[in-house]
Amino acid sequence: MPLVTDEAFVISASDWHETSRIIRCFARAHGRIALVAKGIRKPKSRIGSTFETFSRVQIVFYFRTGAEIFTLKEAEMVEYVPELRTDLRRFAIASFFFEILDRGLPLHERHEDVFEITRRFLSDMRLDGWRPGTAPAYFLYLVSALGFAPRLDRCAVCGQPADVAFFDPAKGGGVCDSCKPHETGLIPLSSGLRDFMLTAMAQKGEEVLPVTSENAASEFFNLIRRFLEYHFETELKSAGFLLRQVPQS
Ligand SMILES: [Zn+2]
Repeated sequence: MPLVTDEAFVISASDWHETSRIIRCFARAHGRIALVAKGIRKPKSRIGSTFETFSRVQIVFYFRTGAEIFTLKEAEMVEYVPELRTDLRRFAIASFFFEILDRGLPLHERHEDVFEITRRFLSDMRLDGWRPGTAPAYFLYLVSALGFAPRLDRCAVCGQPADVAFFDPAKGGGVCDSCKPHETGLIPLSSGLRDFMLTAMAQKGEEVLPVTSENAASEFFNLIRRFLEYHFETELKSAGFLLRQVPQS
């Protein structure tokens, strides 16, 4: 079995048998993978504390085509955002981001663009003057890269260009006033949030557009949650946790 080196973000780690752990992570070259870290819980293990959720790690593992789980050989911490241990808001936002990675990334599929967005999102959180308002743009980049870009410049039902004021999680787009009475499960969409999302999705440069208010942030996270829960067919628990942290309008 070939030994391969990669770097990865840790999504979660859980105990396995007496002394081992299963590490679920998102690797730059190998995509979302699971690794078994044998003996990691023995007192002498050098890599025991390396696999904290959200950390970026250098990994060496035995790769085998078709295997569901690979065996880890070595690991080393590359970067961690210490503020995630002390700031509940940052922790809640990062948890939602990583739950989307976990649900949205297909197994073993390389997604260098998503990896880079994740790296930038976490580096941004290390800044002294970090503002929570910058997080939604990263979520938009993420969901777009995963194939869930919301369509907001025209109606998702009739296809006509429109200033949509409602969002349909099932169709993944805005719905115009004429089509609205015939649709169910729609979420109201403020013009401020719609304009923010359109601008942020069009602009993928170094400057990350912040949302304009706390209300816009909670409206955004609620919309993304409803949209993705529909498509992933599961509750996103971290979204509920996050929405209890941000004041509701
Ligand atoms: Zn329409």
